[in-house]
Amino acid sequence: MSVYDDRPWLAQYPPGQPAGITVEHDSALAMFRASVARDPGGAILRYFGGRITLRELDDLTDAFAAGITDAGFAPGERVAIYAQNVPQFVIAQVGTWKAGGIAVPVNPMNRERELGQVLTDSGATVLVTLQSLWHEVAAKVVSATAVRTVLTTSESEYRAAPADPVDCPGTVDLAGMLARFRGVAPPEVTLGPDDVAFLTYTSGTTGPPKGAMSTHRNVVFNAQTYRDWVGLGNDDVILGVAPLFHITGLIAHVAVALLIGAPLVLMHRFDAAETLRTVRAEGATFTIGSITVFIALMNVPGADREALASLTKIYSGGAPIPPSTVTAFRAMFGTYIHNCYGLTETTSPSHAVPFGSVAPVDPASGALSVGVPVYDTVVRVVDDDGHDVPAGEVGELVTSGPQVVPGYWGKPAETQKALPGGRLHTGDVGYMDAQGWFYVVDRKKDQINAGGYKVWPREVEDVLYEHEAVREAAVVGVPDEYRGETVKAFVSLRPGHSVAADELIAFCRARLAAYKYPRQVEFLAELPKTVSGKLLRRALRSG
Ligand code: AMP
Repeated sequence: MSVYDDRPWLAQYPPGQPAGITVEHDSALAMFRASVARDPGGAILRYFGGRITLRELDDLTDAFAAGITDAGFAPGERVAIYAQNVPQFVIAQVGTWKAGGIAVPVNPMNRERELGQVLTDSGATVLVTLQSLWHEVAAKVVSATAVRTVLTTSESEYRAAPADPVDCPGTVDLAGMLARFRGVAPPEVTLGPDDVAFLTYTSGTTGPPKGAMSTHRNVVFNAQTYRDWVGLGNDDVILGVAPLFHITGLIAHVAVALLIGAPLVLMHRFDAAETLRTVRAEGATFTIGSITVFIALMNVPGADREALASLTKIYSGGAPIPPSTVTAFRAMFGTYIHNCYGLTETTSPSHAVPFGSVAPVDPASGALSVGVPVYDTVVRVVDDDGHDVPAGEVGELVTSGPQVVPGYWGKPAETQKALPGGRLHTGDVGYMDAQGWFYVVDRKKDQINAGGYKVWPREVEDVLYEHEAVREAAVVGVPDEYRGETVKAFVSLRPGHSVAADELIAFCRARLAAYKYPRQVEFLAELPKTVSGKLLRRALRSG
């Protein structure tokens, strides 16, 4: 049997024109409710050996919506969710939709300045967080934001052996609120396809963090994309290794689970050995990760074919993956890693390798194809003047389709720049071959990609400039065997000042999420610049 027998529309790819599909639900909430109606007793979340059924998630999210509404939350307001992959994340997300709100997932690695930026930009009025993160970070920033209600929860609440409760004065205990509002009907709200489901923060192609507005249509469409392109059904078990704050986790884990009503096994945070144990214990069948996940799995001592026997549907995204890694992984575990590609602004994938197909490799660059555009998606390859280039020639990828976000929250100028006419200028450089397969071979944007985690150089440079010894700073990505790329800073010092590389690294580490601080610092007397004084980042990158 070929992949085209049960999914005949795939035969149009490559090359062909986009096939039309129907977006099956008006909102991600309607999609969840359809799954509840179909199989209320089915498990939707599994974690630390426990499980929550669709009916229970429906009840818990009703209580969440009723509780925040009682505390003054109004439709259209934003709820920031700052936590690792815990069940409460999903409860808050779906509960927010039931209250007519917009969910704002926040990277739990964010430190004060990064969390503060997201809370301020989104204007969130409710913050849901873990007790530990409240004390370490959030308590220091909320007073300067619009947050009125803070809901704290214990990450050990859903573990077999809960830790002692931590006191979080001035906050509301989430578990207590859910118990108080159990059985209370959520407010009557109407969500439509154009309403915003998430604000997902990204540096995008142009720098400072911006909230990409994924609409309910974007979310339902891409949940269907995963279901259909991977061939998922409710007998699948989804392994949640990608972080839920990132668009990949939000769609390929949570939204897909809500659509098909299949269990999502939440990995609190990625740990390779624990992942192998969980796959076996839960019989996980599908996952998506980035290159670092696959390399880490191959390096678990004693890992063999049996370890991932049930996990037959594997996708990689978020960062380039070399064909050699795909081959080595297959030799070790017997499973082929399918590539896919997208951005936060495409609400996860715009391209994928259909499950069961093997992606070709570009003979010139050695890059593995990212796949073909998913249905209803048009991807142009354009030169610097915006003209289409022929197949085989390199240019910027410009994407339009039902998964492309309408813009950034409160930023019309940035929206116009990145998404003129609704077409996303990705900042990625690539080409399409004669058969319609796409390859990403370079980047126009300054973004650094550390194994899927994106670092915007300006953010790190801003921190370096806060150090009294620093005169000039430039941050670039340099090759790294494990992450693909890592962060390097070039620094020139003020006359009369001295500072050690370690000290500057520690300075950044204290102020930024862990993947952003420079792993290397090189001191130069002067940083290279153009005659007009513009920093020559490319010259630094190539060394
Ligand atoms: P994000 O907004 O964090 O999802 O990052 C999107 C960026 O990740 C893209 O613009 C690409 O530069 C990169 N990316 C995503 N998937 C792939 C892939 N399969 N191969 C190469 N780069 C990728």
